[in-house]
Amino acid sequence: MAWYHKAKSKAEKLVHRGLDRHVRVAVTGLSGAGKTAFVTSVINQLLHAPVEGHLTFLEPCRERRFKASKLAMHQELHIPKFDYQGCFGSLVDANPIWPSSTRNISQANISCRYKVKDKWLRKVSKDSTLTVEILDYPGEWLLDLPLLRLSFKEWSELCQQYLRRERRQQYASDVVKQLSELQYSEPVDEAEIDKLLSSVANDYRTALYDYRKYNKDFSLALPGRFLLPGELEGSPVLSFFPVISSDILSLDWEQFESQSLLKILERRYNYYQKHIIRPFFEEYFSKVDRQIVLIDTNSILESDYESYLDFKHTIERLLEGFSYGRSNWLKRLFSPSIDKLLIATTKADLVPPDQHASLESFMQKTVAQVKNDIGYEGVDVETMAIASVATSEPVTTEHDGKQLHCVKGLDVESRESVIHYPGKVPSKTLSREEWRKLEIDFSPFAVPCFSPDEPLPHIRMDKVLQFLIGDKFV
Ligand code: GDP
Repeated sequence: MAWYHKAKSKAEKLVHRGLDRHVRVAVTGLSGAGKTAFVTSVINQLLHAPVEGHLTFLEPCRERRFKASKLAMHQELHIPKFDYQGCFGSLVDANPIWPSSTRNISQANISCRYKVKDKWLRKVSKDSTLTVEILDYPGEWLLDLPLLRLSFKEWSELCQQYLRRERRQQYASDVVKQLSELQYSEPVDEAEIDKLLSSVANDYRTALYDYRKYNKDFSLALPGRFLLPGELEGSPVLSFFPVISSDILSLDWEQFESQSLLKILERRYNYYQKHIIRPFFEEYFSKVDRQIVLIDTNSILESDYESYLDFKHTIERLLEGFSYGRSNWLKRLFSPSIDKLLIATTKADLVPPDQHASLESFMQKTVAQVKNDIGYEGVDVETMAIASVATSEPVTTEHDGKQLHCVKGLDVESRESVIHYPGKVPSKTLSREEWRKLEIDFSPFAVPCFSPDEPLPHIRMDKVLQFLIGDKFV
């Protein structure tokens, strides 16, 4: 019978290993989309998950199987830790403010202890642990994915097209002139290379970045790390820029000397591809199980039509990364493992609840084509309107004898209670003319005084968690 006991114990070990599970959830979105607030809220909600009546849509909570949770250290020690204490601390401070935005990759692990549901697994163990690994990274980095397939020349051509667009000509003229005056065929003095490249690259980056920031230009002609360098800040790997002069672009680049400025720039670009973009995706795509992409639809609706078109283009590029089947090269390179993708429009607390469906529908229609492509490739895709941290409550007022649904919160300056109606949120995409007539204002509220002992108020975070990890509590 010894063999029987040995086999049984081996089987139990295997089942235990199966029960001690991990799910890796990656959180991304463009700068300001709400990633830091989201990760802070996810951790906070899960830490309160064992409280009865909390997170009603999350299956193990609804079935009262969620027993305990705690923050745990992650194994990937090269990835910085998400500063939950600092972020939560600023939200519940005596003078509460929003935590600082994501500028680098970071990770948080939460161990969740729960009662096993599966009747076969229960024979081995009544309880199990699911470790939820949350990886927060700038969406701008994801936009680098297409660069892996572009040569330096092809990338330069795209940048040239981008800068030629009418709306950018004015602000880009100085930097375009500067780039055009460089002597690309001349060798550069060794001692001067770094100084020259970093100074021009810096001017190029600053001109584009500032315009993007102040004019809501959601499009990009910059590598992701130029926008958010993370730990690469100031390093020479970011000292390159595109060649946008038509005269140079029309030439055969093979004829350039190895020490020419053009070839030096090309080598820097190739280095960036090989040593920055590629390792990030190798690590990232091969290990992530679930992905959430956050979108600040409110701020898009407040901007002009050109910005909307830019945004649509950018978000399509960002989401294309999840359309594996169409990009077979991606599959070959990184063997991606994501099987669920959530596209969430954030800050829904600034919109009265009766308009949440419109907000979601507008965002859904904006990304419809690319969402369809991803779904077609077998990834389960869902969209939602959410608020990681709700700063308002719904109220109904009367206007012209009719009931009007509004939101009530604290004024950012005076912290007095104010009621706000943001306008009518469209439920479909609009023509240029319709867009012009939009009257939308999603004024933010101040962060209210939250109790540090209560879960942060939210909108649909329990649905988010059910979609992303609910099925893992077996
Ligand atoms: P990140 O750059 O993606 O990390 O974005 P953050 O999480 O730092 O959010 C940027 C800003 O959006 C915050 O400072 C807040 O002003 C606002 N914000 C983020 N999440 C919410 C939310 O759930 N509700 C509201 N009302 N504002 C939010």
